Amino acid sequence: METDTAVMVRIGELWLKSEPVKKQFMTVLMRNIRAALDAKNLDYKLEEYRGRILIYGDVERIAAIASRIFGVVDASICKTCGNSQEEIAATAVCLVGRKLSSGMRFAVRARRQHVKGFTSQELARTVADAIWERIPDFVVDLDNPEYEIFVEAREYGGLVYDDRIVGQGGLPLGTSGRAMILLSAGIDSPVAAWLMMRRGVVVSGVFMDGGRWAGPATKDLALDNARILSTWCPGRDFTVRVVNMEPFFTAMTETCDRHYTCIFCKRFMMRTAGALAEQGKYDAIASGENLGQVASQTIQNMRVITASEERPILRPILTYDKEETIAIARRIGTFHESPGDSGCRAVPKKPATRSSTDLIAAEEEKLDLVRLIEEACASAETWIACNGKISKKQLNT
Ligand code: ATP
Ligand code: MG
Repeated sequence: METDTAVMVRIGELWLKSEPVKKQFMTVLMRNIRAALDAKNLDYKLEEYRGRILIYGDVERIAAIASRIFGVVDASICKTCGNSQEEIAATAVCLVGRKLSSGMRFAVRARRQHVKGFTSQELARTVADAIWERIPDFVVDLDNPEYEIFVEAREYGGLVYDDRIVGQGGLPLGTSGRAMILLSAGIDSPVAAWLMMRRGVVVSGVFMDGGRWAGPATKDLALDNARILSTWCPGRDFTVRVVNMEPFFTAMTETCDRHYTCIFCKRFMMRTAGALAEQGKYDAIASGENLGQVASQTIQNMRVITASEERPILRPILTYDKEETIAIARRIGTFHESPGDSGCRAVPKKPATRSSTDLIAAEEEKLDLVRLIEEACASAETWIACNGKISKKQLNT
């Protein structure tokens, strides 16, 4: 394995944390990076120094994988060398090669940490001088360079690079607790799930299968969303529970005031997810609800929906415009170009945009909710997505 080239991974927000928390975050992040590289059967060597991670191996592939790992701000493919000014300058000259030509606007960005004997300004000058000997007449432009090179003198060695692959940011997956997300066939909830994962939350999905009340493509689309989400937590399972909601729809549409159908429906989803969260010890429920998107997502109706569940209901895309959500969905791969029929058959012509908890609770009295929720939970089948593949969990495993 070549050791003169490595991927350097930069981590976000660590400086906000205390030393013990930093340590814990690094441990989780390193574990996630290893799992992702192992999932691709790569041969690699990993080193960690003061909040920086260096990975040796097939650097192109490693950089692409690392840049998808939550908590990674960016990744750079670096030339590594000794940490003296001379060695760093010689390495920089090699890297610059033919990328720099006379007349080009150019900048050297230098950093130095725990290395004595020169300042970062001196290092920048030494590097620039060495490059000038090879490619004279470049124009130093620190504000608007056409090409820039980064050099770092660290106690563990020198690093030279000229590119940054932008990562996802966020926090390492597994550092922010566990949430159960209402995961549908739509655009919003997979994006909400991804945003939660990016913030370090381990997410499990609950898909409520409306049976004859839902379009035929619905279940497959929801499972496909889970499958795609699993590519964002390589080496880990992304589980999704598929719950039969048809009996609820049938009972509710026969018995309750149809104007409030969507509110009954969402409260039932929250309660069922809450019951499953209780069984699985999840800290919160999440959804792809979005302020003002549909009748059930007015602020008044969200209050009534929120009252159905005691856990916090996290709504990461609450304030996003649809276009913003779609842009993320496209980027993360959950946007289906031609999704097929996933429409709901129970939506009334004029769904109520306002309701009150008392009114809705009185209507719900007409239903045997306890039994319906129990039966819904009992109907749950578990699907497991891992590394972009999904299958139903066998009962004896
Ligand atoms: P779209 O992206 O088209 O808006 P959606 O799934 O977001 O689809 P909404 O009616 O806006 O549909 O639902 C609000 C939220 O309720 C969803 O983001 C999701 O969290 C949850 N939800 C809706 N339908 C289901 C379902 N069948 N199973 C699980 N959760 C669902
Ligand atoms: Mg929606």
